[in-house]
Amino acid sequence: MSEDIRPSLGLRPVINVSGTMTSLGASIAVPEAVAAVQKIMPQFVEMNDLQRKAGDIIARLTGAEAGFITASCSSGISLAVAGTITGTDLLAVERLPEVRIAKKEVLVQVGHMVNYGAPVDQAIRLAGATVVPIGQATSTHRFHLENAITENTAAAVYVVSHHVVDYGLLHLSEFVEICHARGVPVIVDAASEYDLRGFLETGADIALYSGHKFLGGPTSGIVAGKKELVRHAYLQNLGIGRGMKVGKESIFGVMAALEAWETRDHEGIRAREAGYLDLWKATLSGRLGVNPVIDPDPTNNPLDRLKVIIDPAEARITAWDLAAALAAGDPPIIVRDHEAEHHYFYLDPCNLHPGQEAIVARRLGEELDKAQRSNAIIATPIEELSRHRFDGLLSWPD
Ligand SMILES: *Cc1c(COP(=O)(O)O)cnc(C)c1O
Repeated sequence: MSEDIRPSLGLRPVINVSGTMTSLGASIAVPEAVAAVQKIMPQFVEMNDLQRKAGDIIARLTGAEAGFITASCSSGISLAVAGTITGTDLLAVERLPEVRIAKKEVLVQVGHMVNYGAPVDQAIRLAGATVVPIGQATSTHRFHLENAITENTAAAVYVVSHHVVDYGLLHLSEFVEICHARGVPVIVDAASEYDLRGFLETGADIALYSGHKFLGGPTSGIVAGKKELVRHAYLQNLGIGRGMKVGKESIFGVMAALEAWETRDHEGIRAREAGYLDLWKATLSGRLGVNPVIDPDPTNNPLDRLKVIIDPAEARITAWDLAAALAAGDPPIIVRDHEAEHHYFYLDPCNLHPGQEAIVARRLGEELDKAQRSNAIIATPIEELSRHRFDGLLSWPD
């Protein structure tokens, strides 16, 4: 690991066992991306040409006809949707998000209308589109989609993520079949998915990825798909895309990250991560009220996590209080706790520097020992968590 600049900045040296979390700086950038950023920073480049080169690499890795880099996957959603509304109408590009075109409806399954840090539907509305939710939270049937498509349908957005409802919704292949039969392009938000080819192979017209998640690139988004739709999305850089501008360093950095992905030792990384999970599982096994279970990734990414199930009566602490104690500790350890109300959190092994796995194991043991010695069960009422969730942010920067 390079020099740790965090103490000199007065920042806490957090250890990330929560996964690729934008709020923590997303991921450990791969060395190839870091080197690429450094190389291009002093040079002038013609940005449209650099984007062409990025497009070549994107095409090679994804099988797409064309591609480009934008600021984030979230901006990719807005640009791709905008492109389906404006086409090559440059005046419309400048007028967005005001739209004088009737064909601006975008279909999304209700079970896909999630929040990845901001609402999916807002990224669509930013493009001037009208979101048309289809189905219910846990069910979409063919008739929902078929009947929602009209002459005003510009596109349909499909989200692949652990955030979405994972049952009762339309499979991508069915979604594509129904949309394509009626001439509606399908945009897939695959921000965190390792599979760079599968969604386009299944028929998606555009697939969107984050450059800063599993790829370990600089903060960026990857737009890949049919050449005409990708071009229409790219034209939005003259409009709403300006505020989502990506610099030469991010473009070149993510090009390097994509190339590094092709040659990455995926099996070796998987084996190293399995070692971390085994260590944590051994550390936790046999402890009162703690049940550690290795859990595969819910969207089939080649990644397992350790699900740490806590029985507060026996462990003498709740899952959410244990997560909070680890986050407040020294060093701070951030676990994947967005489902803690169900009495578990996850330990995600994919963003650790070597040696940090042992610190995580030690801190888990210390906090669980402390809970055993405590007179009362450490149990903050769950409703207090939601009541205070935004306190820190609402008083930022204080
Ligand atoms: C992370 C994520 C996003 C946002 O990606 P950014 O590149 O950070 O904008 C969008 N959709 C899903 C499903 C995500 O997981």
